[in-house]
Amino acid sequence: MQTLLRMLYPPRCLICGGLVESDFGLCAACWRDTPFLSGLACATCGVPLPGVSDRAEHCDACLATPPPWREGTAALAYRDNGRTLVLMLKHGDRHDIAAAAAVWMAARAKPLAGPGTLVVPVPLHLRRHLRRRFNQSALLAQGIAQALDLDWCPDALRRHRHTPVLDGRGREERFRTLSDAISLDPKRGGLMRDRPVLLVDDVMTSGATLSAATEACLAAGAGDVCVCTLARVVKDT
Ligand SMILES: [Zn+2]
Ligand SMILES: [Zn+2]
Repeated sequence: MQTLLRMLYPPRCLICGGLVESDFGLCAACWRDTPFLSGLACATCGVPLPGVSDRAEHCDACLATPPPWREGTAALAYRDNGRTLVLMLKHGDRHDIAAAAAVWMAARAKPLAGPGTLVVPVPLHLRRHLRRRFNQSALLAQGIAQALDLDWCPDALRRHRHTPVLDGRGREERFRTLSDAISLDPKRGGLMRDRPVLLVDDVMTSGATLSAATEACLAAGAGDVCVCTLARVVKDT
C-alpha cells in the first residue's frame, strides 16, 4: 500500500514541487537557498552574531532594551527561501510546510524547553483568523509540542482588538499599537500559573507582537517565557 501510494504520490519538494527522497523535504537546490540559522546567535532574540562562544551572548539591541522573554531562537533567516516558506505557510494553507517547519523549530527550541513547558501560539485576531481560516502559528506550536513531547494550547491567548497590518510600520509604532492587545483567554484560567511557556510565531521582526504576548503570559502567572519563531528578520551587515 505504502509503495503504491509512493508511486501515485511521490514526495515533492515543499518549495518547487520537484521530486525528493522523503516527505516534508526540500530538493538540493531549494535546501541550498534556505538560510537555516546555525552557529552563534543572540540568546534572547536569535539574531546571528559573529564568532564563536561557549556561553550565552546577547546582541547590542537586546543589551540596550532587553525583551520581556528569557531566551529566544529562530530556525531560518527571513530572506530567500526563509521568506518564501513563511509566505507560503501564511497564505497557502500549507500544512505540509508547517509539519517540516515545526521539526526544524523543535530542534532549535529543545534547549529552551523543560518537561512542564506549555507551548502556546501567538494569536491572530479573530477577523484575520476567519479570513485565513487557520492560524499558522498554532500549526507550528502543535508540531513543536509533538516533536518535544510537550503540552500545548492553541487558544490560550487572544487579541482584544483588531490590530492593523504592521508591515512597514516603525518600531515605536508597532510596540505602541500592540501593547495591551493580547491577554490570556479568561476561560483558560490558571493554565499558565507557575508554568514555563514557549511562545511560537511564524516570523520575528521587531519583536513587538512577541513582547505583547510575553507580557500577557507573565500577567497570567507564567513562570518563565521563551520564544521560538520559524524565521527572523536579519538586517544585512
Ligand atoms: Zn525544490
Ligand atoms: Zn538580541
